[in-house]
Amino acid sequence: MKSFRLTEKEMNKMAERIPTPFLVASLDKVEENYQFMRKHLPSAGVYYAMKANPTPAILKLLASLGSHFDVASAGEMEALAELGIDGSRMIYANPVKDVRGLQAAAVYGVRRFTFDDVTEIGKMAKYVPGADVLVRIQVRNNKALVDLNTKFGAPMEEALDLLEQAEKAGLHAMGICFHVGSQSLSTAAYEEALLLVRNLFDEAEARGMHLTDLDIGGGFPVPDADGLTVDLAAMMEAINRQIDRLFPDTAVWTEPGRYMCGTAVNLVTSVIGTKDRGGTPWYILDEGIYGCFSGIMYDHWTYPLHCFGKGEKKPSVFAGPSCDGIDVLYRDFMAPQLHVGDNLLVTEMGSYTSVSATRFNGFYLAPTVIFEEQPEYAARQSASRDDDAEAAV
Ligand code: PLP
Repeated sequence: MKSFRLTEKEMNKMAERIPTPFLVASLDKVEENYQFMRKHLPSAGVYYAMKANPTPAILKLLASLGSHFDVASAGEMEALAELGIDGSRMIYANPVKDVRGLQAAAVYGVRRFTFDDVTEIGKMAKYVPGADVLVRIQVRNNKALVDLNTKFGAPMEEALDLLEQAEKAGLHAMGICFHVGSQSLSTAAYEEALLLVRNLFDEAEARGMHLTDLDIGGGFPVPDADGLTVDLAAMMEAINRQIDRLFPDTAVWTEPGRYMCGTAVNLVTSVIGTKDRGGTPWYILDEGIYGCFSGIMYDHWTYPLHCFGKGEKKPSVFAGPSCDGIDVLYRDFMAPQLHVGDNLLVTEMGSYTSVSATRFNGFYLAPTVIFEEQPEYAARQSASRDDDAEAAV
């Protein structure tokens, strides 16, 4: 699966109209990612984890395709409600909920929650009596880039007691959920978790609790990131087989975040300053670690950088525009000589990037434009129609 990528010409043309830095999101690519998941993992419905990228056009598109949404806060519920998306299509999947979030859930009709501690039960029962709850269990996976299981998840042996206590408080014990960690390169982590959860479902039945829903969380990777190739179709199909084998009568859900948008967005940034430091070229860009590159810090990510100059390549340093020494993005990056005003392209910028950008030092947030609304998209479409026509002759 190829990532969305602007050509050099498209990038430069867009930068003539739109001041850098800006992000370009391809809705076609988001749709392709969504449909790919539906095709290869058809036994699980989708709750898109909007924390990865809450761009309204992306939310609207996914809603129109039939997606449901994983929300973490009152703010995310409000954003969806503003787009006309009903609370019945949301799961409040932050295991620890604040009062604002619980009040918003009551207002917008969000009735499905996850939790991993006894202290959540009274809170949920108070604000949304009778809510449907899934207990989140801890799973192990050392092949995930971002570990979520040190902070979240009840120990397996406590899961059913928690569901029983939820029932006693008038909640509806609906099921179990887990998250194998983000950017998981391991299919086995899902397969093993599914096996363990099957035992819990059986034990629950024996205790008189009929669980109907299973949520296998996010974690699906951006393929080919950092030189590590993942066969996503094979991964999803293996998980689907395990679901069909172990949970033929259960409603199964995923919560993909990173996977859905990671490959669908490019950043266009430009060189605003150059320096020579002991023979090493330094390039200062108009976007940095306090902006869309925040994922370098928060998300342990390296974003593919594309430079277009000609000539000999030298190990170079790229830094952001803030007055902070930590704002260095790439070191020893082989780049041709660049000049002030040159545009650069950064691909795979769709998840956990702009959403955690700040306005530190007063720099403006990079806006997101939709590729399909730009003249470069129309030009690309007509060029590919011409190619098709030529091939048909
Ligand atoms: N669901 C929950 C509860 C999460 O906390 C996260 C990420 O933090 C996700 C889904 C999305 O995970 P990913 O981006 O790995 O798909």
